[in-house]
Amino acid sequence: MRIGVPKEIKNHEYRVGLSVAAVHELVAAGHSVSVQAGAGVGAGFDDAAYEKAGAAVLESAEEVWAGADMVVKVKEPLQEEYRYLRSDLILFTYLHLAADESLTRALLEAGTTAIAYETVQRPDGSLPLLAPMSAIAGRLAAQVGAYHLMAPLGGAGVLMGGVPGTPKARILVVGGGVVGEQAAIMARGMQADVTVMDVNVARLGQIDLTHGGSIRTAYSTSLDLAEHMRDADVVVGSVLIPGKKAPKLVTDEMVRGMKPGAVLVDVAIDQGGCFENSRPTTHDDPTFRVHETTYYCVANMPGSVPRTATTALNNATLPFVMAIAGKGWRAALADDAALAKGLHTHDGALFNAGVGEALGIET
Ligand code: NAD
Repeated sequence: MRIGVPKEIKNHEYRVGLSVAAVHELVAAGHSVSVQAGAGVGAGFDDAAYEKAGAAVLESAEEVWAGADMVVKVKEPLQEEYRYLRSDLILFTYLHLAADESLTRALLEAGTTAIAYETVQRPDGSLPLLAPMSAIAGRLAAQVGAYHLMAPLGGAGVLMGGVPGTPKARILVVGGGVVGEQAAIMARGMQADVTVMDVNVARLGQIDLTHGGSIRTAYSTSLDLAEHMRDADVVVGSVLIPGKKAPKLVTDEMVRGMKPGAVLVDVAIDQGGCFENSRPTTHDDPTFRVHETTYYCVANMPGSVPRTATTALNNATLPFVMAIAGKGWRAALADDAALAKGLHTHDGALFNAGVGEALGIET
């Protein structure tokens, strides 16, 4: 199969769809790979390294998209990339269509076969292509929260773990999945006082057991959430209902009652956000103020650590890329129920019920 890797064009997105090691594996399996010049520079891979691994390095995005049977990317195509979509193209990337009607319509109109990383789902409910980025975003959320708690940045002026004899910062994590647990681990590592809320009691049990009770757990009802919000210095929003828009759990009223200088990190912003006042921000201008708090709502947090993120992503995607390239997408999806859950559009039809429901499009 001919595989294309264009350069990412989203603001401050330095990751790349295929690492040099992944290209090497694909070429060894008999596939041809084209990489846009400079595509991997931000992730630590220069053009010469790709060429050495057997890729052709092409100057323009147009050549890469036009010559590929499958394009492997990181982020969803932006408006200026819609013109590259075609009916005989497989697109394998993060899509997050439930929050993006214009891209959904562009993919349907072009007839593209689009397979989304974020809904590839194993029978146990785990999301193998979301998990590595979630782990990174979670770890970053604690870092970002700690940073914006500093007074010169408008924060409450509290050190995460305090020092002996002073109160620790209180970190509230709403949604104890992959993002939430990793945020909690890093916040605990900084010796903050950490509480994870979730509606899945079994999940809370796992977190309690794994961390020997060092991370507090609480069942999430709106009443309990409002109470925990009043005491929190940092709130991390990390709920997910796969393929759907995030529920707005944190209301404006709850935020109005928070301590001045509190920080709210809405990691779920890529699914629309789980705080009422959230709106997507970028690495250039990552925060805004609501009442006396700071909101951080960057939709591509792992993009700020592209070396870590590209390798972590490729470790997870490569087996699926190999399967699609080796067998063709139909056989690869037929053989793997997890991958089949990633299919969003083909030949003008929508296959994901959650996206259909969110956008009012028939599936
Ligand atoms: P996950 O499925 O592992 O965890 C989600 C958790 O939310 C689950 O434990 C679930 O039980 C819980 N939940 C669902 N409804 C809830 C409710 N009403 N109250 C409390 N908890 C509830 O998902 P994840 O991998 O941790 O991802 C979380 C979010 O972070 C997703 O929206 C994902 O797309 C996003 N994300 C964002 C970035 C970014 O850069 N901003 C990066 C990676 C992931």
